[in-house]
Amino acid sequence: MYEDFASKLAATMWADFDVTPDRDGPTAGVEITDLSTRVIDGNFPWTLVTVETDDGTVGVGEAYPSPGVHEIITDYLRPVLVGENPTDVERLYNLMRASLSGRGSQQGVGTIAISGVEIALWDATGKLLDLPVYQLLGGKMRDSVRVYADCHGGDAMVSSAEEGQTEETYRPEAYAAAARSAVDDGFDIVKFDLDVPAGHGGDRKARHLETAEVEHKRRLVEAVTDEVGTEAEVAVDLHWNFSPEAAEALCRAIAPYDVAWVEDPLPPENTDALAELGRRVDLPLLTGENRYGRHGFRDLIEDEAVAFLAPDVPKTGGIAETKKIADLAETHYRTLVPHNIGSPVATVASVHVGAAVPNFLALEYHARDVPWWDDLVAGDDLIDDGRIEVPDGPGLGIELDWGVVDEHER
Ligand SMILES: [Mg+2]
Repeated sequence: MYEDFASKLAATMWADFDVTPDRDGPTAGVEITDLSTRVIDGNFPWTLVTVETDDGTVGVGEAYPSPGVHEIITDYLRPVLVGENPTDVERLYNLMRASLSGRGSQQGVGTIAISGVEIALWDATGKLLDLPVYQLLGGKMRDSVRVYADCHGGDAMVSSAEEGQTEETYRPEAYAAAARSAVDDGFDIVKFDLDVPAGHGGDRKARHLETAEVEHKRRLVEAVTDEVGTEAEVAVDLHWNFSPEAAEALCRAIAPYDVAWVEDPLPPENTDALAELGRRVDLPLLTGENRYGRHGFRDLIEDEAVAFLAPDVPKTGGIAETKKIADLAETHYRTLVPHNIGSPVATVASVHVGAAVPNFLALEYHARDVPWWDDLVAGDDLIDDGRIEVPDGPGLGIELDWGVVDEHER
């Protein structure tokens, strides 16, 4: 049903998006033959996207884990892209958006599906041209990209010091041990979820924190910063859970500990409220994982509402769209710290953006509790001493170990 609809719709678009294929280089005449997805059972359902071409090239991307992505890609975007040249990445990005116009081309799962395909198109293009993606974006600004460790919080906390997860994980000492473990692994930015209720009083629905809960959270931050000293920067994530009053009380309590950033203190939709909180507290704020595309970031950047922006590459529009967000952010001297909960594919896609733009501080790494994360890629571990070396191979520059993918496929 969708294929017919998509094909009819795409036919009306193709005329507008048609260009003369006048190239006679190595990519002349190459056509996309198939799009497909595979889901890996990681700490999220990591959704790989493959673009196949008639010369045997396979580009691999990743879409943010979301219901409906598989259907949109295979039933909807596949008939739009089959027969197209994969190296026309920007034109195909706009064609995909046009074909989903009114059906998620601006945000949500439609944009997520497009993002996954866009990353796969860059990988295929780099492989066809024998160039790394960062080179296609204009070359690299750095040889390695800093990665920060998401240590989670409470029952979900990642710590080699704790066997099993118990209420004990809400103790300041447990947070300090988790931070020590990450720093000993080479990370020099660690982040903790500070929104997890620890039982000292609050009201999630009213987004309220009682004083005793604020004090408990202050003690957690104190324990972590005491433990790591100047070995690492410490960030906290509040996951949109608090009111302006509660967020301000918490920010004031932890301000003396020089945290690197406070992430998502307020619900994500209201830029004015975030900017007002930013003026009232003496801490850098970060947001962005719920925003889509450069248009979704425009008011955050123009209002200078936060210090750091966290687009998610396989969600916000893909590699080129994230670079455009970085370029827009640069006009206000704002810096990217991208959100990332993905497999090595999403991670390395983000690394290529980080290589290509100056205003990139660090990339999230969310899978310290998945011991086989690095095994998904053939060769050496990607993350070494809290950094990922920018891959120099064609495309994304990584080769997946498909046996490990098979082993963990859903
Ligand atoms: Mg977050």
